[in-house]
Amino acid sequence: SIRAPATKKATTLTVAVKCRPLTEKERGRDIVRVNNNKEVVVLDPDLSKDYLDRIQNRTKERRYTFDYAFAPDSKNALIAYVLRGTMSADVYERSISSTISGVVHGLNATVFAYGSTGSGKTYTMVGTEGDPGLMVLSLHTIFDFIKNDKSSDVFEVTCSYLEVYNEVIYDLLEKSSGHLELREDPEQGIIVAGLRCIKVNSADKILELLNVGNSRRKTDNTDANETSSRSHAVLEITVLRKQKRKYRSQVIRGKLALVDLAGSERASETNNGGQKLRDGANINRSLLALANCINALGKQHKKGLAYVPYRNSKLTRILKVGLSGNSQTVMIATISPADNQYHHTVNTLKYADRAK
Ligand code: ADP
Ligand code: MG
Repeated sequence: SIRAPATKKATTLTVAVKCRPLTEKERGRDIVRVNNNKEVVVLDPDLSKDYLDRIQNRTKERRYTFDYAFAPDSKNALIAYVLRGTMSADVYERSISSTISGVVHGLNATVFAYGSTGSGKTYTMVGTEGDPGLMVLSLHTIFDFIKNDKSSDVFEVTCSYLEVYNEVIYDLLEKSSGHLELREDPEQGIIVAGLRCIKVNSADKILELLNVGNSRRKTDNTDANETSSRSHAVLEITVLRKQKRKYRSQVIRGKLALVDLAGSERASETNNGGQKLRDGANINRSLLALANCINALGKQHKKGLAYVPYRNSKLTRILKVGLSGNSQTVMIATISPADNQYHHTVNTLKYADRAK
């Protein structure tokens, strides 16, 4: 069971859990199985309720508490709404530091989806036409702000979309991308050299672009799942805001990184060797590096300075700007409610719990 507290705590690291609905296929299993209690996840908004009766087999019960918990029927828009904050005048301060809105004020943020293959990461980040994901909704939020902005500021929004596969970086906006290298830029910090950055004027075309990009992702068939994605995909939205003031003008830059991580299932659980095991090892390396950075950031927040090991993987080097300083980091742990995913679900919840 997962408890969802009503209020958000003031921190730069937010941990949310999203449970997807059972798929048609999973629902279908109910017909042939005798025991038809297939949903093993309970989201509990209020621990005072006697929710325990709702779980029949409680011998393996685990309880966790997170900043937010999104039920299977939640639309992606609900998550986007939470990340955006409320844009009314009295909560203006809060809204400035809200994850998605902050980028137009020059803040950096990173939102990533973590979970095993098939748990709903891509659905959450990319989404569908009817339920657009956070990559799409974030751009909508940004363009809504720009449209309603009353100042004479000039905005420029650019996007890049890359994947990290086997510790190699590829450009998902290019038809056949070569290997890209990381470089140190004196102004921007670590950048991906030669990465295509496209200027966008509205959020309309982005879903199409993401789908084309996603079709270029390196996917592989493993025994664990036919459509297992073993790459990390990073959409980076940069907002340049040119402010003209009386005596001088200045440019502020905000970056929002939205990350669809590779499946978190462990390499040891995939029944294959050679190339595939190497993939697994590298995926774990990037995930482990990210986990270590998140843990260090948590410590930093509680106890002051701590060493954050960004350099340990390509992914953490790319995400460094959006994971440090006054950046907002949001982890969305995606889980399936199905009983056959129980172990993956527990692993994901444990990881998310440690990240807090
Ligand atoms: P992952 O990217 O983690 O491997 P997907 O996002 O591809 O997982 O989701 C796995 C399956 O579950 C897909 O068929 C997807 O359409 C479905 N799914 C995931 N989340 C939802 C949701 N919130 N509502 C409906 N279907 C979902
Ligand atoms: Mg996916």
